[in-house]
Amino acid sequence: MDSVKIVLDESRIPKAWYNIVSDLPVPLAPVIHPGTKQPIGPDDLAPLFPMDLILQEVSTEREVPIPEPVRDAYRLYRPTPLYRARRLERALDTPAKIYYKYEGVSPAGSHKPNTALAQAFYNKQAGVRRLTTETGAGQWGSALALACRLFGLECTVYMVKVSYEQKPYRKVMMQTWGAEVIPSPSTRTNAGRGILAKDPKSPGSLGMAISEAVEDAATHDDTKYSLGSVLNHVLMHQTVIGLEAKQQMEMAGDYPDIVVGCIGGGSNMAGLAFPFLADKFKGKKLRVVAVEPEACPTLTRGDYLYDFGDTAATTPLIKMYTLGHTFVPPAIHAGGLRYHGDAPLVCLLYHHKYIEAVAYQQRAVFEAAVQFARAEGIIPAPEPAHAVLKVIQEALQCKRDGTSRTILFNLSGHGHFDLQAYEEFLTGRLEDYAYPQQQIQQAVRELAAIQP
Ligand SMILES: *Cc1c(COP(=O)(O)O)cnc(C)c1O
Repeated sequence: MDSVKIVLDESRIPKAWYNIVSDLPVPLAPVIHPGTKQPIGPDDLAPLFPMDLILQEVSTEREVPIPEPVRDAYRLYRPTPLYRARRLERALDTPAKIYYKYEGVSPAGSHKPNTALAQAFYNKQAGVRRLTTETGAGQWGSALALACRLFGLECTVYMVKVSYEQKPYRKVMMQTWGAEVIPSPSTRTNAGRGILAKDPKSPGSLGMAISEAVEDAATHDDTKYSLGSVLNHVLMHQTVIGLEAKQQMEMAGDYPDIVVGCIGGGSNMAGLAFPFLADKFKGKKLRVVAVEPEACPTLTRGDYLYDFGDTAATTPLIKMYTLGHTFVPPAIHAGGLRYHGDAPLVCLLYHHKYIEAVAYQQRAVFEAAVQFARAEGIIPAPEPAHAVLKVIQEALQCKRDGTSRTILFNLSGHGHFDLQAYEEFLTGRLEDYAYPQQQIQQAVRELAAIQP
């Protein structure tokens, strides 16, 4: 077996998603209503999400069938290839075996369509006409724009204004698929008008864009809202990555000792790792590592508390590692890794030590990304470049130990829209930044008042 790409036939696209909730060794904390301090029910979410997705959010079934129209749409790019990084192994002169699952082959260039397609399908089935969402750098917005086009829905994307102006290509991508892209804050919503009244030149933020997208959905009967990470059902949709990878590792005659993924909200890491964690719960030896930026060190330096999901403090309270919802993300280049919290499922497993976490500075991350691109050809997005750095370090550790370990990571997207960041790195203008510990402590202290 000396394959570089391990590919599956279309018939091997999974027929069901894996719901890790059914196998959890410890129960998940309930989502809490900020007013009543009681657990929320399906009805609380009904204005924003279709019932099928709400039921998936609270499902305890181990396997949830993938509807045939979603599997059919997955065929546009799934199964995605599993690569054996033979050239990187040679470059590092390591006895480690390195594999990566490449999600950059989707039309949007990342793993995000895996959930966008499912969400668009269930909304269409529920008679919804239009979906709203927010986007920062544009990865999620473009995945949803694609999915809405394929399932016949209209799509409104509130895009953080500074990204809208400075990163026009993702916007054009969304428009090409027919989405309406609105720079946020906008005059479309009360939230946006309020912000503009105070600060007409506001550059916008993800928190503001969320408020606008949620308000737009909540005030229109035929419109719902869509979220690209964090929620249980989003992580579940992403398990097609790990379910395919398991089949491919078996074809390669291997099983990972270490599974690595970068973490923004947690969906790509969970998508690859959860089907393998199912084996770990049964006693299999396996390490799972989540990699985050030092500029947004949620797992490594946050606290495990109830917090709002958004900056405007309008969502229900969720228990997660958090930097506090007032966290102002610094302008690092891994735009997808700047969320103040992480998925409750990932946080629970981290808290109980089923998952490890590590944080890195962005210059070391880009150095790893360039090393990877020069060995393997693919230019990684800045987000999965965090995983690449961890993988290289583990491979070099194997060399020092004189042992061969099998390392599997998620290459969640390509970096073709991130070349400005590469340019800054290559010309020595990229700077490191670690979020100040004092600011984290202060923001987290303020959360005491909202704990149930
Ligand atoms: C959005 C994004 C991420 C971060 O989100 P997760 O939910 O943590 O996966 C990572 N990689 C890519 C390519 C993304 O687009």
